[in-house]
Amino acid sequence: MNSPYMGDFRVTQEYKGSNHDGLDLVGIDSKEIHSTVNGIVHFAGWENSANKKQGFGQFVCIRSNDGDYYYYGHLSEIKVKQGDTVKITDIIGIEGNTGFSTGSHCHYCIRPQFAAGNSRNVSLISGIPNEIGVYNDGYKPTSKPSKESIVISLGGKNYRITEV
Ligand SMILES: [Zn+2]
Repeated sequence: MNSPYMGDFRVTQEYKGSNHDGLDLVGIDSKEIHSTVNGIVHFAGWENSANKKQGFGQFVCIRSNDGDYYYYGHLSEIKVKQGDTVKITDIIGIEGNTGFSTGSHCHYCIRPQFAAGNSRNVSLISGIPNEIGVYNDGYKPTSKPSKESIVISLGGKNYRITEV
């Protein structure tokens, strides 16, 4: 499974083709949105900066190296800019409630062009079940070393000291 999250997340609305052209996802462990493809940032910004409740609100669209366009909608923050090269797992933004949205979530969809009207089946491509529920990305980062920490006791209290 390749989701925009690392760890647990919830599917809150299924892919329904032209009736809902992506999956709505809500992060449980983290609100960080990660790229699900290797590619180039095609767009990063507001769908309509004059009306921040319209459409995808603040969103990122990545043109993947296979040619499809991967959209991450309704973000509260954007962490990339147009033209950036991104790899799978790179952080591109933070989940949010911008655009046409009634609660914090990420609209995740895949289109063959940078335009509405056509979509790929994001569930089949990503492996995320097309069913409301809680899932785990299953991705295990290998390059992130875990921090060492020790606990010491002083005067009856425990203190954890963590490497910075
Ligand atoms: Zn949606």
